[in-house]
Amino acid sequence: MAELDSVRSTAQAILDRLSQSVPGWRILSIDSPQDRPVDADIALYSVYTGPRPHPLRTPPNPIRVTVGLSDEESWSAHFLVGVEWQDATAQLASQIQDHAIEYTQGAAIPPCPVHPQHPLSAKVLSGIACWSCPKNPGFYSEPIAEPSPGDL
Ligand SMILES: [Zn+2]
Repeated sequence: MAELDSVRSTAQAILDRLSQSVPGWRILSIDSPQDRPVDADIALYSVYTGPRPHPLRTPPNPIRVTVGLSDEESWSAHFLVGVEWQDATAQLASQIQDHAIEYTQGAAIPPCPVHPQHPLSAKVLSGIACWSCPKNPGFYSEPIAEPSPGDL
Protein backbone atom coordinates (compact mmCIF):
# COMPACT_ATOMS: atom_id res chain seq x y z
CA MET A 1 0.00 0.00 0.00
CA ALA A 2 1.75 3.09 -1.29
CA GLU A 3 0.14 5.40 1.23
CA LEU A 4 1.67 3.48 4.16
CA ASP A 5 5.10 3.83 2.58
CA SER A 6 4.58 7.58 2.33
CA VAL A 7 3.44 7.76 5.94
CA ARG A 8 6.51 5.74 6.95
CA SER A 9 8.88 8.13 5.16
CA THR A 10 7.10 11.12 6.70
CA ALA A 11 7.35 9.59 10.18
CA GLN A 12 11.02 8.80 9.56
CA ALA A 13 11.70 12.42 8.59
CA ILE A 14 10.08 13.54 11.85
CA LEU A 15 12.16 11.08 13.88
CA ASP A 16 15.34 12.10 12.07
CA ARG A 17 14.67 15.69 13.07
CA LEU A 18 14.22 14.67 16.72
CA SER A 19 16.99 12.07 16.81
CA GLN A 20 19.52 14.27 18.60
CA SER A 21 17.07 14.70 21.46
CA VAL A 22 15.68 11.18 21.63
CA PRO A 23 18.47 8.94 20.32
CA GLY A 24 17.43 5.46 19.37
CA TRP A 25 13.81 6.24 18.69
CA ARG A 26 12.61 4.47 15.59
CA ILE A 27 9.42 3.45 13.88
CA LEU A 28 8.19 0.27 15.55
CA SER A 29 5.08 -0.26 13.48
CA ILE A 30 2.67 1.37 11.07
CA ASP A 31 -0.83 -0.04 11.12
CA SER A 32 -3.27 0.47 8.33
CA PRO A 33 -6.71 1.78 9.30
CA GLN A 34 -8.47 -1.50 8.54
CA ASP A 35 -6.60 -3.17 11.39
CA ARG A 36 -8.72 -1.50 14.04
CA PRO A 37 -12.39 -0.89 14.81
CA VAL A 38 -13.91 2.46 13.87
CA ASP A 39 -15.15 3.31 17.36
CA ALA A 40 -11.71 3.93 18.81
CA ASP A 41 -11.12 6.78 16.41
CA ILE A 42 -14.26 8.83 16.85
CA ALA A 43 -13.05 10.52 20.04
CA LEU A 44 -9.74 11.39 18.45
CA TYR A 45 -11.43 12.85 15.43
CA SER A 46 -13.77 15.00 17.47
CA VAL A 47 -10.89 16.89 19.12
CA TYR A 48 -9.20 17.57 15.82
CA THR A 49 -9.77 21.22 14.93
CA GLY A 50 -8.09 21.45 11.55
CA PRO A 51 -9.69 21.25 8.14
CA ARG A 52 -11.86 18.20 7.80
CA PRO A 53 -14.74 16.82 5.84
CA HIS A 54 -18.34 17.44 6.78
CA PRO A 55 -18.75 16.51 10.46
CA LEU A 56 -21.64 14.17 9.75
CA ARG A 57 -19.50 12.07 7.48
CA THR A 58 -18.00 9.04 9.18
CA PRO A 59 -14.30 9.80 9.57
CA PRO A 60 -11.96 7.20 8.16
CA ASN A 61 -9.66 5.52 10.64
CA PRO A 62 -6.29 7.19 10.99
CA ILE A 63 -3.09 5.29 10.33
CA ARG A 64 -1.41 4.42 13.62
CA VAL A 65 2.31 5.12 13.86
CA THR A 66 4.10 3.56 16.83
CA VAL A 67 7.53 4.96 17.69
CA GLY A 68 10.02 4.51 20.49
CA LEU A 69 12.91 2.41 21.71
CA SER A 70 11.20 -0.95 22.11
CA ASP A 71 7.79 -2.50 22.61
CA GLU A 72 8.13 -1.66 26.30
CA GLU A 73 8.96 1.97 25.59
CA SER A 74 6.67 2.89 22.74
CA TRP A 75 4.26 5.67 21.91
CA SER A 76 1.45 5.84 19.39
CA ALA A 77 0.62 8.74 17.11
CA HIS A 78 -1.91 9.05 14.33
CA PHE A 79 -1.77 10.06 10.72
CA LEU A 80 -5.24 11.23 9.78
CA VAL A 81 -6.81 9.92 6.61
CA GLY A 82 -9.26 12.00 4.61
CA VAL A 83 -7.66 15.37 5.37
CA GLU A 84 -4.95 17.27 3.51
CA TRP A 85 -1.66 15.35 3.60
CA GLN A 86 0.19 18.38 4.99
CA ASP A 87 -2.35 18.80 7.80
CA ALA A 88 -1.98 15.14 8.70
CA THR A 89 1.82 15.54 8.61
CA ALA A 90 1.77 18.50 11.00
CA GLN A 91 -0.58 16.63 13.35
CA LEU A 92 1.65 13.55 13.32
CA ALA A 93 4.76 15.65 13.98
CA SER A 94 3.06 17.45 16.84
CA GLN A 95 2.01 14.18 18.48
CA ILE A 96 5.44 12.58 18.18
CA GLN A 97 6.97 15.82 19.46
CA ASP A 98 4.66 15.73 22.49
CA HIS A 99 5.78 12.18 23.27
CA ALA A 100 9.45 13.18 22.91
CA ILE A 101 9.04 16.19 25.19
CA GLU A 102 7.25 14.06 27.76
CA TYR A 103 9.94 11.38 27.50
CA THR A 104 12.69 13.95 28.18
CA GLN A 105 10.62 15.61 30.91
CA GLY A 106 10.23 18.91 29.19
CA ALA A 107 13.16 19.45 26.84
CA ALA A 108 12.66 21.96 24.00
CA ILE A 109 12.42 19.49 21.11
CA PRO A 110 13.25 20.35 18.42
CA PRO A 111 14.84 23.56 19.72
CA CYS A 112 14.18 26.80 17.88
CA PRO A 113 17.50 27.84 16.29
CA VAL A 114 16.75 31.48 17.10
CA HIS A 115 15.38 30.97 20.62
CA PRO A 116 16.81 27.72 22.05
CA GLN A 117 14.60 28.05 25.11
CA HIS A 118 11.48 27.02 23.21
CA PRO A 119 10.70 24.19 20.82
CA LEU A 120 9.61 24.69 17.25
CA SER A 121 5.94 24.04 16.65
CA ALA A 122 4.46 21.92 13.90
CA LYS A 123 2.00 23.82 11.76
CA VAL A 124 0.91 24.26 8.17
CA LEU A 125 2.28 27.42 6.55
CA SER A 126 1.21 28.30 3.01
CA GLY A 127 0.09 24.72 2.50
CA ILE A 128 3.34 23.14 3.71
CA ALA A 129 3.74 21.33 7.05
CA CYS A 130 6.61 23.11 8.81
CA TRP A 131 8.58 23.23 11.99
CA SER A 132 8.42 26.91 12.83
CA CYS A 133 9.20 29.38 15.59
CA PRO A 134 6.08 29.65 17.78
CA LYS A 135 6.66 33.39 18.24
CA ASN A 136 6.73 34.13 14.56
CA PRO A 137 7.38 31.80 11.63
CA GLY A 138 9.37 34.67 10.12
CA PHE A 139 12.11 33.97 12.66
CA TYR A 140 12.48 30.40 11.53
CA SER A 141 10.65 27.67 9.65
CA GLU A 142 11.56 24.55 7.74
CA PRO A 143 9.54 21.82 6.00
CA ILE A 144 8.82 18.81 8.19
CA ALA A 145 9.19 16.34 5.32
CA GLU A 146 9.69 16.18 1.60
CA PRO A 147 6.41 16.40 -0.28
CA SER A 148 4.90 12.95 -0.59
CA PRO A 149 4.10 11.46 -3.98
CA GLY A 150 0.62 10.91 -2.58
CA ASP A 151 0.31 14.63 -2.11
CA LEU A 152 0.89 15.62 -5.73
ZN1 LIG B 1 11.72 30.89 18.23
